[in-house]
Amino acid sequence: MAKILCVLYADPVDGYPTSYPRDGLPKLDLYPDGQALPTPRGIDFQPGALLGSVSGELGLRNYLESNGHTLVVTSDKDGEDSEFERELVDADIVISQPFWPAYLTADRIVRAKNLKMAVTAGIGSDHVDLQSAIERGITVTEVTFCNSISVAEHVVMMILSLVRNYLPSHQVVLDGGWNIADCAARSYDVEGMHVGTVAAGRIGLAVLRRMKPFDVHLHYYDRHRLPASVEQGLGLIWHDSVEDMVGMCDVVTINCPLHPETENLFDAAMIARMKRGAYLVNTARGKIADRDAVATALRSGQLAGYAGDVWFPQPAPQDHPWRTMPHHGMTPHISGTSLSAQARYAAGVREILECYFEGRPIRDEYLIVQGGALAGTGAHSYSEGNATGGSEEAARFQPRPIPG
Ligand code: NDP
Repeated sequence: MAKILCVLYADPVDGYPTSYPRDGLPKLDLYPDGQALPTPRGIDFQPGALLGSVSGELGLRNYLESNGHTLVVTSDKDGEDSEFERELVDADIVISQPFWPAYLTADRIVRAKNLKMAVTAGIGSDHVDLQSAIERGITVTEVTFCNSISVAEHVVMMILSLVRNYLPSHQVVLDGGWNIADCAARSYDVEGMHVGTVAAGRIGLAVLRRMKPFDVHLHYYDRHRLPASVEQGLGLIWHDSVEDMVGMCDVVTINCPLHPETENLFDAAMIARMKRGAYLVNTARGKIADRDAVATALRSGQLAGYAGDVWFPQPAPQDHPWRTMPHHGMTPHISGTSLSAQARYAAGVREILECYFEGRPIRDEYLIVQGGALAGTGAHSYSEGNATGGSEEAARFQPRPIPG
């Protein structure tokens, strides 16, 4: 029987919800590329419930305990005295969400003598030292596509809110003001702008499709080119390097995984290649953009705005410069954990666990590392190596009470 250690974010400050704003979720038949949604044999949760916080338990407790396994759920994940560190030593499986990542560094992997699988409840397994997982023969899986559209919607929202200066204008209302000039002095139309995505995978392509009706010029860079029919249908301009693309774009959105090739991709030199007054939206991973270079570019005006929901480390310390830099529209890491997305990734985790315990193959598209090598989606989208360096900084986070 196995011990499953599941790291989830804390419940809402007012307690676990007893009701929700809506009574259910729309039914989806397939993902946009035809991939099937998760197909567990069963689920023990109500779709639309909060599953990603500690009390939600990803809806796994009944299934795991009725099969004789042990489930430990905690949000205490950082530092040597954390519950995660204590429980990890004899855990067989670790489940973690990128929003509240349980960093599985090389050190921790050495201490996790029984660890056989790390499951990402979501997409993006960069919180796992993939090189160490490869060397130790640990399987790494994620629930591919579960929240790609959730993120794409968030990206479109952030592009519009930056360009149109939505958040500061909303603040004027909250502050009891009516100064239209302050709002308008940084507000533009998106129409006619050049919008480019770094990577046109599931999220990047969905962003391109969603931006098309805004009558913008669409650009992309990806290591693999999209089919000609897709390029023609959307009128896409492909670039053979990020460097080449960014100089032409008014808006750049980053939608590639974090791995050694993409870490620090948007450093001071890359940002200097962008048009003055460009907007940068990063919902991929915080480490893809250089923390200080972004803040400096916002202060100098080289960037007119920066938004995203991804930071490094997570949670971000109180003194992280992105909390206080000008012209930003940052949120905590939330885009991929809408209640809609949670229902899909909780079902996907259940599917992965059922396959694992029943000795059935895990879907190729869910695999990142297996059998000592990158596998499935991992072989296509990641490179070997480690991107967890510096994650111990997450232990510095001290929560502040939410005002109001
Ligand atoms: P996909 O695997 O569908 O797409 C990733 C794309 O990135 C692929 O097209 C891949 O290209 C491309 N890529 C990989 N390396 C590079 C590189 N060096 N330069 C340019 N492109 C590259 O994943 P998704 O679109 O679903 O998700 C992408 C990322 O978004 C995730 O890895 C995760 O980090 C982040 N994410 C964030 C969430 C959030 O809540 N904020 C939620 C979900 C995901 P190719 O395969 O052609 O080589």
